[in-house]
Amino acid sequence: MTRRLATALALLALALFPSALAEAPRTFFAMDTAMSVSAPTADAALLDACEREIYRLEALFSVTDPDSEIARLNAEGSAALSPDTERVLRFALETAEITGGALDVTLYPVVRAWGFTTGEYRVPADAEIAALLENVDWRQVSLSEAAAALPEGVMADLGALAKGYASDRLVEILTEGGVDSALIDLGGNIWCVGEKPDGSAWRIGIRDPLDPASVVGSLSVRGAAVITSGSYERCFVADDGAVYGHIFDPMTGRPAESGLISVTVTGASGLQCDALSTALYVMGAERAAALLPDLDGVEAVLVDSGGALWVTSGLKDSFTPMYAYQTAEIHWIG
Ligand code: ADP
Ligand code: MG
Repeated sequence: MTRRLATALALLALALFPSALAEAPRTFFAMDTAMSVSAPTADAALLDACEREIYRLEALFSVTDPDSEIARLNAEGSAALSPDTERVLRFALETAEITGGALDVTLYPVVRAWGFTTGEYRVPADAEIAALLENVDWRQVSLSEAAAALPEGVMADLGALAKGYASDRLVEILTEGGVDSALIDLGGNIWCVGEKPDGSAWRIGIRDPLDPASVVGSLSVRGAAVITSGSYERCFVADDGAVYGHIFDPMTGRPAESGLISVTVTGASGLQCDALSTALYVMGAERAAALLPDLDGVEAVLVDSGGALWVTSGLKDSFTPMYAYQTAEIHWIG
């Protein structure tokens, strides 16, 4: 093992399984990903409550479980929504508005046609994509209190923000349970509760999108979500050798090629960070850099395909570029 690899793995391990935490993290699989909750002062009942909450939210949001509220909305064109589903859908529509439609929950039929919900990947023909795009438009979602409706052919999916919201809920449960230091990792969607038990800031490694064994750098945070979107996280290689990722451009119906290869957003709302990480990825560096200074309470680290970093100036003291990125060009935003 090279020294660089060893250090990178140690940094990731530090982020995910801090040695200062005595008790083993609670790990489980849900929402299609591996999850862990490290909260050394939490008792088993509190960790059980966290795990149950994830399964409860999955049962509301899942597009593949026919009994979920979202699946019923898609199948029947209207459905009653619980407060959680309404809240996440409302936030998705608000984010669509401010990002010029870069986040669009009605992309689901397109994402499904490419096989991302089933794992049966394929590259749909241009005509098929064009036909599916006819029904992609977040403005078609009518959301009222506790209910939503969609026109025929329109379907929704909260996958781009569900885990961010779920992480916020776990923070509420842990905090109400008296926990003041915890690390939540919902498949790379991180929430750092408080600070490390020794009183120092959490240090979270941002994975290098071009080298999963290394990191772009580290972020020091206290009491914040750190959420990354990158196509490398879920992608497939087509017969012609092209790599297609799971973040889609609603304008083209194809995997986004915005020039960004990783977007990390940090702030006090996991829901907001998750929604924005996906949207900013689609928007590309220039548009993201124009929008970010207008957004309250969020900071971001963007990596472009040329190896340059775009970092909001609020992170000047807390983001440390590492390895290949120590000499990278940094465009400061705001
Ligand atoms: P992850 O789920 O890996 O954390 P994201 O938060 O970026 O990643 O969400 C990506 C998921 O959201 C995709 O798997 C897809 O289901 C859905 N999606 C992809 N592109 C968009 C988009 N532009 N707007 C809304 N949802 C999207
Ligand atoms: Mg997201």
